[in-house]
Amino acid sequence: MAAQGKKVLGFTLTSPEFEPPAQLKKYAASAYKYSFPYLPAGGDFQLRQRIADFYSRSWGKKFNQDNVFVGAGGKEVIFVLLSTLLEQGKQGQEVIIVSPYWATYPKVVDILGGKKVFIRTSDKNNFALDIDKIEKAITKKTKTVIINTPGNPSGQIIPEDKIRKLAFLAKKKDVIILFDEVYEAYDYEGLFVSALKHFNKNVFCVFSASKSFSLCGWRVGWGIGDKELVKKMINIQSEITTSPNAISQLALKELFSKPKQIQEYLVSINKKAKMRRNLAVRLFKKNKVDFVYIQGGIAIFVKIPDSFKNAFSFAEKLLEEQKVSVAPGEFFGWKNYFRMNLASSPKNIREGIKRIANYYK
Ligand code: PLP
Repeated sequence: MAAQGKKVLGFTLTSPEFEPPAQLKKYAASAYKYSFPYLPAGGDFQLRQRIADFYSRSWGKKFNQDNVFVGAGGKEVIFVLLSTLLEQGKQGQEVIIVSPYWATYPKVVDILGGKKVFIRTSDKNNFALDIDKIEKAITKKTKTVIINTPGNPSGQIIPEDKIRKLAFLAKKKDVIILFDEVYEAYDYEGLFVSALKHFNKNVFCVFSASKSFSLCGWRVGWGIGDKELVKKMINIQSEITTSPNAISQLALKELFSKPKQIQEYLVSINKKAKMRRNLAVRLFKKNKVDFVYIQGGIAIFVKIPDSFKNAFSFAEKLLEEQKVSVAPGEFFGWKNYFRMNLASSPKNIREGIKRIANYYK
């Protein structure tokens, strides 16, 4: 059997495998000096202020700690935001989700009893976002619109003119737009502009230490939005986790006191990730495998071979025969694609694509 003796190569999860910022080890160790108190709901005040300063500097708008919410990963930030926006027990509250989408969004909407409204994009134009379609989909029942840039799994970055229009639309329609920007560090064409640059009280952006600093297990993410909205989110979080774990927050607080070092670190991982992106693009092209050209993020969305009827069956076969695991596109609303994580080692990417390419000959 082809799989015999082969090691499983995992490309299913989008967890970056880069070395985290070196100073973090020292900061986390020094956090042991504290007696691990409960930190305030919403996050350590100084950490929130330093995050606010960092993004104020990056995008030219003035934020302060009241605008910042720290959660146990971007996931908690998103969940708490949607819990805040969707009123309990009320029927028919709509959440607009652009497809392909990150698999968690529809699940959270289901858990909270909301109604999903999908906006499908086309792979013929690299999943370009049609703002008119979004505007038309917004009704009196719309509670939020979820936008993800750089996109997982699309690999697309929404250009600034559209980000500006979306921020304007949020204000005009008085609906919160959630901009999931957890892959902000992975921009290979210099296209990424955060919605924070066009901030108004209807814009909410989410970021993550998992993706920016390869700290998935530390469980820290943060959101920036209107301070009244943040206040409501804090009330909810205080009944869930109270606050993310103290060691991660205290270490990140130190990290955010050195914004220049953060910028240097982000530039260095961007370079490494771009090298992997270029490698994957070159190898997929060489093997005549169809994929959507990736501008940002760490996931590439690849078309399944014509001989398979859906991505589940392809992913199953690939794992069984070639010992390569990828995420079937059904999780993201597209049954003729699979997603491959590229924040892996170049050696694994080379070997993984070699095994995948066997099905396209
Ligand atoms: N948003 C997107 C698009 C993601 O892909 C992920 C993780 O895979 C997250 C948010 C949340 O990540 P975390 O909770 O680890 O910060």
